[in-house]
Amino acid sequence: MLKKINYFLLFLLLFSRGSEAGNLGEIFFENAMITIHHNACQLKSPLKEKRKLILPLDKCASRAQKIAISHPNLKQIHWAQHDRQTVWIVATFSKDYQYEITSSPYQYRICIPFCQKNQSIMRHNPERESSTMMFMLKDMLFQIPLQGMLIDEFLERSIGFVPQDVMKDGLPHFGAKRDDWLGSSRKHKGYDIYANNINVVAAAKGTVIKIRQNKIAGRYVKLYHDAQLYTVYVHLKTVLVEIGQQVKRGEIIGRIEGATGNAVEPQLHFEIKPYNQSVDPFPLIEHFYQDHRQIAYKITKYKKTLSASIQKRDENVKNFRLRSFSSHSNHLYSNY
Ligand SMILES: [Zn+2]
Repeated sequence: MLKKINYFLLFLLLFSRGSEAGNLGEIFFENAMITIHHNACQLKSPLKEKRKLILPLDKCASRAQKIAISHPNLKQIHWAQHDRQTVWIVATFSKDYQYEITSSPYQYRICIPFCQKNQSIMRHNPERESSTMMFMLKDMLFQIPLQGMLIDEFLERSIGFVPQDVMKDGLPHFGAKRDDWLGSSRKHKGYDIYANNINVVAAAKGTVIKIRQNKIAGRYVKLYHDAQLYTVYVHLKTVLVEIGQQVKRGEIIGRIEGATGNAVEPQLHFEIKPYNQSVDPFPLIEHFYQDHRQIAYKITKYKKTLSASIQKRDENVKNFRLRSFSSHSNHLYSNY
């Protein structure tokens, strides 16, 4: 009995940790800059010693690793789990040093001695002035993968969109609650864009690595984009590429016509997966346009629409569950 309880506690511990902790991705050194890719790790105040820089990343998990550096000042970078939820990244220098940190979604950059901010790739990117919504991850440029969909339309049809059945269909954003009205804690791992009779295009240059079909997804395509980056396109009616095919950003890969799989309304379920783990593309979009006044303003406006939708949906779910449990609780699970 005791053993059983222990296993149960262990399971709880692992489960709760797994669902909250982020993890480290790639770390590399280039052009006097340490780049740290991560998913949901939080950088705490660095500890500066004469020849060591310690970067504590909270809510983070990683295997121990080290890289040797050939640089006049920096000797090596190593990292390991420091305690249950903190990873320490330690940069060892050969003499006293200066540094500066910048952060963007899923990435920290430590420049030695300082970051040249006016050389920002994003600010000088002419693509940003195009009418398709873009974002960057690991220095790779992505676009919202629906052909001809303009920025305003995208915002209206993603975070600005309220599905007809807000409760059963769920809201479009990443991390949205799904099936909570049935008592499940499933979270939405992609980003939904509601559109019909439209071509789906590659979000970035890549290779088709998977084409499948099932009852939940309908037809879907997965692309690989180098640097451990993947994207997935779900709820397609038609797939217009083959396995192994190379595609350019903006090239047609499939088409949405009607709702497929478990989709209630026609939509693209889009996932971006560094290291094959889904992340929210929205912070990347916000970051890409952070100093673009007009677009940043629109994003803020649509985020308010989304918060209102979330509130409305939470109320619907609460009322539904209250009603279900008081009148016909026995039928709640057997019906669906
Ligand atoms: Zn979805």
